[in-house]
Amino acid sequence: MNTLVWLITIVLILAVANRYQLWRIAKPTSWPRLLMYHSIAPEAPTGMNTPPEVFEAQVAWLKKQGYHFCTVTELLANPATKKVAITFDDGFANNYHYAFPILQKYQAKATIYLAPQIADIDKLTSEHIQTMQASGLIEFGAHSVNHINLAQASAEQAQQEIQQSKQQIEQLTGQACVSFAYPFGRFNEQVVAWVQQAGFRSAVTTQKKIIANPQQQPLTIPRISTHGAMDKGQFYVAFSRGRYKF
Ligand SMILES: [Zn+2]
Repeated sequence: MNTLVWLITIVLILAVANRYQLWRIAKPTSWPRLLMYHSIAPEAPTGMNTPPEVFEAQVAWLKKQGYHFCTVTELLANPATKKVAITFDDGFANNYHYAFPILQKYQAKATIYLAPQIADIDKLTSEHIQTMQASGLIEFGAHSVNHINLAQASAEQAQQEIQQSKQQIEQLTGQACVSFAYPFGRFNEQVVAWVQQAGFRSAVTTQKKIIANPQQQPLTIPRISTHGAMDKGQFYVAFSRGRYKF
């Protein structure tokens, strides 16, 4: 082969490696995974919305790979081999209409972080929440009341948002609410302390990472973020490496 062909080949290999971030080392399958989703609806795929057939293909693939689906609280209690916690932020009504039937089909547990008074989205109703709670598949966590940036709010407002979201969700589900997700992924040391003081036992962030043991940082657990337009290869890279860059 002449030099030019070699050069082109090398450039192509590097381009593919960069595109798929293959230079990142796959994390051991024994490390638990947390996946972050928001909306699941038959609409355009975006960073916030995953079409149902894409979501189902991902759940089916995880099941085929031998992963065990658990809630975030279960994952923290026992982060044993091949555990995956599917999480949904915000409390979109479409989580009930499109994600829940898929979760039931695969008997896959998941955690939904509700912001009970979030504006501008079609929210889960109390009937949706109670039906999902009764299935035993869904854990409901809190995501503040109004979905505000807790790191920028006043101390009083931030603490109220944290405490009241816990109370409101406990009223909706009749169960203790012990898991939290920081709205916009924004937090600082003070916010973490308030979340802990309010009685939450875990809190998830939007830091794109896979860690060996979330028990070591239960109030700042990173997650793998998904994008509705991910193809199978991109999902695999994100799931094995912790992140995929669009
Ligand atoms: Zn959110």
